[in-house]
Amino acid sequence: MRAFAMLKIGQTGWIQKERPACGPLDAIIKPLALAPCTSDIHTVYEGALGDRQNLTLGHEAVGVVDEVGSEVKDFKAGDRVIVPAITPNWRTHAIEEGVPPQHSEGMLSGWKYSNIKDGVFAEYFHVNDADMNLALIPDGMTLEQAVMIPDMVTTGFHGVELAKVEFGSTVVVIGIGPVGLMSVAGAVLRGAARLFAVGSRPLCTEVARKYGATDIVNYKNGDIVKQIMDATHGHGADHVIIAGGPAEVLEQAIYICKPGGVIGNVNYFGEGEFLRIPREAWGVGMGHKQINGGLTPGGRVRMERMASLVMNRRFDPALLVTHKFHGLDRLETGLELMHHKPADLIKPVILV
Ligand code: NDP
Ligand code: ZN
Repeated sequence: MRAFAMLKIGQTGWIQKERPACGPLDAIIKPLALAPCTSDIHTVYEGALGDRQNLTLGHEAVGVVDEVGSEVKDFKAGDRVIVPAITPNWRTHAIEEGVPPQHSEGMLSGWKYSNIKDGVFAEYFHVNDADMNLALIPDGMTLEQAVMIPDMVTTGFHGVELAKVEFGSTVVVIGIGPVGLMSVAGAVLRGAARLFAVGSRPLCTEVARKYGATDIVNYKNGDIVKQIMDATHGHGADHVIIAGGPAEVLEQAIYICKPGGVIGNVNYFGEGEFLRIPREAWGVGMGHKQINGGLTPGGRVRMERMASLVMNRRFDPALLVTHKFHGLDRLETGLELMHHKPADLIKPVILV
């Protein structure tokens, strides 16, 4: 079968691979819709995960079940399914200990696709533990909506969870690409009152307003710490969600966050050995400013719940989809768009 792969750091291309084999608990999926991700760009062009050779890219997919293993109970060939970007092994000692499933076999081990195993950008791909990791696409959900759920929706919403957003609070979302836009939508659902969205591309700021941002801050118009401190009369924010930007945004978030506030990071810091904490802004170590960083949850229930929010019209993730292409071959175009991020792009989708 054909697969679109990272050949080495900085280089991608089409290669031939064996169709994956299906274990007793697993499933093999034929993609219906795929989406390239900023994380694919960090992986390929920044080598953020280290070198990978001939590794199939991609972790955002919905598809149709082609084959299931002998032990799979709830899914069968022909089912249309959402496949989470994060597919943990749910049967580990660490899970019983209460370690988040994303890390059930070691740090970030739930992130398997295009990291420790072949990704989803191929004619067929493999899912471990199908009963625990797949969710049916609800009737009436479009493929564009469905393919935003495996990563963009769940990750943006996880930023909101990590920042512990509360009713009536002031929230800042740093970065309003597709992930940050979902953080905006999620923060509104969790009761944010004033909601600052930090970005520069006009289209993203327009969509941020549609999802409920009350204030737009352009980081290209000067220091965002000053802009937000001025706008809040020196108080800062109760919750800061980091969903984009270079390493300095963590420092900025610490300045912006009130004592007792919470920072939720879902940004992928792709460069450098250390991240910095400003000593005084962190209360010389005693400021009660929490920093939580996390890989998005995956798995079946998470996907079902995100899908339920969409089906009950709490928000529409399809506003993220600015570019649609037809046919597997267009993956290359989609990935190039994610690499160069033109002004009119939020998220490309490839309909297979
Ligand atoms: P985008 O690149 O589309 O968006 C990044 C956003 O950050 C844009 O709004 C951009 O502004 C903004 N930005 C860039 N530089 C700065 C700056 N100096 N200060 C403030 N804002 C800035 O990324 P995605 O939305 O696709 O992804 C966001 C991050 O989430 C990525 O790092 C991705 O790898 C990570 N990720 C993490 C996951 C997880 O499980 N934790 C899962 C999926 C993704 P503009 O372009 O408007 O100028
Ligand atoms: Zn992704």
